[in-house]
Amino acid sequence: MSARVAFARTAYRQLVAHANQVARDRRTEAIGWLLGYFAPEGVTVLDSVAATRYKSQSRYGAEADPREELAIATSYPRTVGIVGLYHSHPFRDETQHAIFHSHTDDTTLKSRASRRENYLSVVTDGHDAEVFVVKGGKTEVTPEIVDGLTYRDALRRYTCDVSLRLEGTLEIPAMDGLLGALEREVAREIEAGLRAADAELEPKSGVLRIPGLAGKATKTAIRVSRQTGGAGVDLQIHTGVAVYLPPANAAEVLAVMKQEIQDDVVYLLWHGLDAKALAGPIVDLEANLGSLRVQETNPLPKKLFKPAKRSLVVKRGSAPT
Ligand SMILES: [Zn+2]
Repeated sequence: MSARVAFARTAYRQLVAHANQVARDRRTEAIGWLLGYFAPEGVTVLDSVAATRYKSQSRYGAEADPREELAIATSYPRTVGIVGLYHSHPFRDETQHAIFHSHTDDTTLKSRASRRENYLSVVTDGHDAEVFVVKGGKTEVTPEIVDGLTYRDALRRYTCDVSLRLEGTLEIPAMDGLLGALEREVAREIEAGLRAADAELEPKSGVLRIPGLAGKATKTAIRVSRQTGGAGVDLQIHTGVAVYLPPANAAEVLAVMKQEIQDDVVYLLWHGLDAKALAGPIVDLEANLGSLRVQETNPLPKKLFKPAKRSLVVKRGSAPT
């Protein structure tokens, strides 16, 4: 049995049009991602987004810049986002049947599918498209092309207010070790917070309360100070976290929320801290990390990061640059 694949008509048309455009303009292969969500009954594709940066791009092959995929993947809450990829075979004029899944395509799909069982691979010639899914081997599936498809009917929103404070000394030799060390400490803190007391889910509102992660931070900011043998750190994170799940997967809420909290803290650290602050020897600094929230946009909910108004890193004892 193959998985059920539902495709929003707009997403389907968009990817075919993109492939067609690139074939006409540059006569090369086009790549893009399929966005949606996995549910017990199958995969739903609600949007498609074209790659804009390529590592290589020719008529018979292309490779997208992995940084672009990472940026897309991390801009959605954990359970929605990339569910597959598409690419084009822009040689419809050369062969009877340009849509096929090549050996290279098989390899690409298999490495992706190891992450998600129903990861999709769409091949298009710029006019039609075929959908493949790996589930114990590559299978072509006939997608249902649906009008007016929305996640709102199929996914439930769960939220959690997180207030987390981390104070201590990190044994790091230089600033470039800061984020890695903080990620490990944050993971430990979240673990401890979840163990401290049972989380409570309010079924009606979808609000999840985690007592161990409530109330220690008043803002979202970091302070770093030079200390013997490392860096003194005071990290405060106050943020609202949201995840989306099919009602049938409600039992997973806590596990998914835990991962999402970790994701959001890491996101805030990576986006809120100036890259310049993360190089060189350990210095005294203070930074506001900005804010992150999930917007209920169409066709999918998306994370919106707002940099802090005064995000300037203050280095005591050195002139601001
Ligand atoms: Zn191919």
